[in-house]
Amino acid sequence: MLDPALELCDLHIHVGGAVAPHVLWSIAHEQGFKLPVSTYWEFRDLVTAKPENIASLDDYLAILHHWTEKIQSSPAAIERSVYEIIGKEFRSSGVSLIELRFNPMKRNLGGERDLDHIIHAALRGMDRACLEYSVRAGLIFCLAREFPLELNEILVKKAVKYRARGVVGIDLAGPEVHTLELRDEVAGYRDLFARARAASLGTTVHTGETPYTAVPGVLAVLKELAPARIGHGVAAAKSEEAVRKIAESGTVLEICPSSNLRTHAVEDLQELGRALQAFEQAGVRYTINTDGPYLLNTHLRGEYQLLLDAQLITDAQAERSVAVARAATFIR
Ligand SMILES: [Zn+2]
Repeated sequence: MLDPALELCDLHIHVGGAVAPHVLWSIAHEQGFKLPVSTYWEFRDLVTAKPENIASLDDYLAILHHWTEKIQSSPAAIERSVYEIIGKEFRSSGVSLIELRFNPMKRNLGGERDLDHIIHAALRGMDRACLEYSVRAGLIFCLAREFPLELNEILVKKAVKYRARGVVGIDLAGPEVHTLELRDEVAGYRDLFARARAASLGTTVHTGETPYTAVPGVLAVLKELAPARIGHGVAAAKSEEAVRKIAESGTVLEICPSSNLRTHAVEDLQELGRALQAFEQAGVRYTINTDGPYLLNTHLRGEYQLLLDAQLITDAQAERSVAVARAATFIR
């Protein structure tokens, strides 16, 4: 069992999957948001990824896009969301260092709301929670694979602009059908990531999250974008070449056990165990994270316990992954 006094770090947690349903419900009502359900219990089911409703990563992302992101699309809503998540992760799991990620352009109703207002509001929510709970936090802006390059460029500019205020990195997220195989845009993304690095922003990329695209996805991301960290990467563990290249590049993996099981990035705990073993043997450094604690009905301490109970990792390995997270954080 993980030492209850050990403070934890969550480096991969989405604002869209981490706000308690009762808080989202309250925000929705506060804003007069028209919901497709009439009772709280129906609403709770709507914003939670129940195993029977999730066959793939696409199903999982659909829940985020359709309701949660819309409800969080105002300055007041994003401020409260960020504030509530940081406090809740501290109270439930002793998370004292947290990097929260979201796409501000998926919180401004397609340009109806001002992007800077959304970002300032998120930073206010973060500041308040950090003061109240004495924790450290930072925001990561998620670029979207399905966005045109020009929109993602605006997100990088905003991340650079708010670097000194608490935006600590950029991410590239979304289903890998829109991956870097868009050859003509690769150079553009390479440039965006270089600009982020030059501005002292951390870089991470979602990849290796679906069994079919995992290996080419991870290899392309390492070669073209060379991020400091990879979100997931777990589905590429079967490829010796991919594992070796992750190790050689020193890229840190952000593993999210419940998420990887729910989206079928790995088929079961045994496959997850084999992946972690492959990473251990190759010297790949990895961290344990939640991805979407409310969406997945989990919390960070629960994620560690899941791996320890199934004997996929030892106590020492669990403690080492906390230390890796502390070393790999983008928060200075
Ligand atoms: Zn994620």
